[in-house]
Amino acid sequence: MSTSATECIFCKIVSGEIPAPHLASNADAIAIADISPVAPTHYLILPRRHEANAIALHRSEPEAMTAIFALVDTLITQSGLSDYRLIFNTGEEAGQSVFHAHLHLIAGRPLSWPPG
Ligand code: 5GP
Ligand code: ZN
Repeated sequence: MSTSATECIFCKIVSGEIPAPHLASNADAIAIADISPVAPTHYLILPRRHEANAIALHRSEPEAMTAIFALVDTLITQSGLSDYRLIFNTGEEAGQSVFHAHLHLIAGRPLSWPPG
């Protein structure tokens, strides 16, 4: 599955065409609240660059991964989180529905393992 950058909802959020408050940001990534949270805390960290998934991003702009994890650090520090889950869903069968790489940061309730 691929989505062109011009049609991509996360590119529109990154550009500001669709407003979404930035919880944190840096030169290469932004953090927003998920519109449909699955836990009391559910943030999304989006690279500014459009790539379909995390490994495509790693291959094309590895420093964007560092930028994404820098925002995780900011968010967990701001929120005082010590227990949380980080997820890159990759591919439809794995639950990916938006084909612009993004990291889920989920916390605030017990999280079962293994995931469903
Ligand atoms: P995926 O299923 O691709 O791993 O995750 C996509 C996530 O994006 C979902 O958790 C969904 O709720 C969230 N999402 C989809 N559209 C929007 C939107 O317009 N704004 C925000 N803040 N989150 C969105
Ligand atoms: Zn995009």
